[in-house]
Amino acid sequence: MVGGARASDLAMAQEPRLTDMIRKELADIIGIAAEPDFVRIYRHEMAIPQYTVGHVERLRNIDASLGKHHGLFLTGNAYRGIGVNDCIENSAKLAEKIIEESF
Ligand SMILES: Cc1cc2nc3c(=O)[nH]c(=O)nc-3n(C[C@H](O)[C@H](O)[C@H](O)COP(=O)(O)OP(=O)(O)OC[C@H]3O[C@@H](n4cnc5c(N)ncnc54)[C@H](O)[C@@H]3O)c2cc1C
Repeated sequence: MVGGARASDLAMAQEPRLTDMIRKELADIIGIAAEPDFVRIYRHEMAIPQYTVGHVERLRNIDASLGKHHGLFLTGNAYRGIGVNDCIENSAKLAEKIIEESF
């Protein structure tokens, strides 16, 4: 993976610069010098939410607003954990909550 929130322009680098950079890093770090059999590039712009200072307060405000809209529920990586495991756990919890509030 190349880029990230602090160096997102790197992920947008054009070929052959991007592949050259990755190959050089792989050579420096783990000594891989062989030509790759194939190269495919997938670019994800703004792929992962960044939890900035104030996130907890923001969540509190969102929860308070949701309380005014019966039947509206939110989950996903923007709220309480970006990892797939967090998303699954939060989805399961939300499903329980929806069942409780619906019956
Ligand atoms: C490149 C990359 C690598 C990652 N690697 C890892 C990893 O190794 N391990 C890990 O734990 N996490 C990893 N993550 C993070 C993790 O994959 C995501 O945070 C997580 O999958 C997000 O789940 P989600 O359900 O919130 O969103 P998504 O998985 O993005 O699901 C949202 C769904 O909503 C659908 N959708 C969007 N708009 C609409 C609409 N208007 N109407 C109907 N449907 C809509 C989309 O098609 C999509 O299916 C990675 C993320 C990226 C981008």
